[in-house]
Amino acid sequence: MDGTTPIFTPHGKHLIAGEWIATEAEFSSEPATGPVHAFSVGTPELVDQACKAAEDAFWTYGYTSRETRAKFLEAIADEIEARGEAITEIGTQETGLPEARLQGERGRTTGQLRLFAEHIRKGDYLDVRVDAALPDRQPLPRPELRMVQRPIGPVAVFGASNFPLAFSTAGGDTAAALAAGCPVVVKGHSAHPGTGEIVAEAIAAAIESCGMPKGVFSLIQGGNRQVGQALVQHPLINAVGFTGSLGGGRALFDLCAQREVPIPFFGELGSVNPMFVLPAATKARGAEIGTGWAGSLTMGAGQFCTNPGIAVVGTGAEGDAFVEAARAALEKAAPQTMLTEGIAGAYRAGKDRFDGRNAVRPLLTTESGPRSAAPNLYETDAANYLQDHALGEEVFGPLGLVVRVSGLDEMVTLAKGFEGQLTATLHMDDADAEAARRLLPVLERKAGRVLANGFPTGVEVCDAMVHGGPYPASTNFGATSVGTLSIRRFLRPVCYQNIPGAVLPEDLA
Ligand code: NAP
Repeated sequence: MDGTTPIFTPHGKHLIAGEWIATEAEFSSEPATGPVHAFSVGTPELVDQACKAAEDAFWTYGYTSRETRAKFLEAIADEIEARGEAITEIGTQETGLPEARLQGERGRTTGQLRLFAEHIRKGDYLDVRVDAALPDRQPLPRPELRMVQRPIGPVAVFGASNFPLAFSTAGGDTAAALAAGCPVVVKGHSAHPGTGEIVAEAIAAAIESCGMPKGVFSLIQGGNRQVGQALVQHPLINAVGFTGSLGGGRALFDLCAQREVPIPFFGELGSVNPMFVLPAATKARGAEIGTGWAGSLTMGAGQFCTNPGIAVVGTGAEGDAFVEAARAALEKAAPQTMLTEGIAGAYRAGKDRFDGRNAVRPLLTTESGPRSAAPNLYETDAANYLQDHALGEEVFGPLGLVVRVSGLDEMVTLAKGFEGQLTATLHMDDADAEAARRLLPVLERKAGRVLANGFPTGVEVCDAMVHGGPYPASTNFGATSVGTLSIRRFLRPVCYQNIPGAVLPEDLA
């Protein structure tokens, strides 16, 4: 990449079942750097075309072997890698994220596709259960009963602005759905339409080389909110995977619930990810934890759903050392480019919300630019936090709130007052074990992932990961959007009673 001649210039079309289609209306990309490109605006007619093609494709794709789908997922990963440099170029331009981040995220995306390939090859996700027939049972015989997880049909996916690769066009939701056997219709994120286009091109190439039905994947660019609304309401869509804001997610969730046939909406939404610094850890290394917190809070300009926006720490000199170290580290952090001007504007509005509150003390306040964010830090106490619901609302960006507590009882009361979270963190030493034992039963009711002595930014893609949690962290607390368990969102258990072996699905026969 020499930075002068672009490797990839998007044509701005939608990919509908193997055809690149343009519409008349256009919207412009808003790149942080590099040229502005024009993209076709999506329409409900395109949604209809894509969903019908997805349903047609399901009758073959949904019945392919696990090995066939595993090879297809691996081919997508290979095609993404073949376009690696071009993806990094357009991705950095559109999002303002650094090159290294785009490269790392590409590795995570292809790793995720290959992990799902391995996962379906192993087959244990099918959760096969067999109850043998008991013909002589009294007073009634028992028939043979077999259960297996089956794919649910076409799935809609909404990518995230902050993970243009790993949570977008070929991200975790798409990988999980395709692995399950479900065709996917992606609503492209308007913050990175060119990145979406080149990744869609990689998927189209894999469809071609693997001989998959073309309708197994479509990408419809946005530029119009009607696209997303039509997609979640389309009668042929069976479930939705969404990563984004609470407001956007809730609006689409409500549409799913209001359908004539309601469907599950798996929304991964916002979270403030509280971090509890327990007394012995505060005493032993409060300043070190405070500095680490500042690093986690400012990583990627704070644009992580797992950003630990709230730290809970005791009053007194030891807690002060934690706060002062965090403040000093945040003061040194330079402003960073944000994903879009809209997200930067929402960050400034979030800061204004804190500035306007008497019960909140500013520890560090900064001015942010039209598309950049500098860190801000505030402090309050447990009583004020519990009274003011707005303090618990996520500010997407590098804004931290310290909540000071007088002791463990107040910490537990505060923990009980939190809404559902993606994560909750404990910083603890051995001497904090009893306090941690009191907090854990509360935190496990609040969060999808509870961690100790680390920071929640950085979500491992693996078998045991849970990236979800009680509302408003997600709209479905039984699910995760990261890790192999996420495939369960796109499967449905079916019981086969006395069905002869010759007729059973391949995975049961
Ligand atoms: P967003 O504004 O909710 O957008 C997400 C997607 O939904 C976009 O495609 C958007 O379309 C569409 N959309 C939003 N509202 C809609 C509506 N009313 N009707 C139809 N479509 C609608 O979220 P974002 O700006 O991308 O991301 C920032 C937020 O996402 C933050 O709050 C962050 O915490 C959260 N997030 C959560 C996770 C997680 O895993 N839980 C991960 C990343 C981010 P357009 O393209 O037209 O805008």
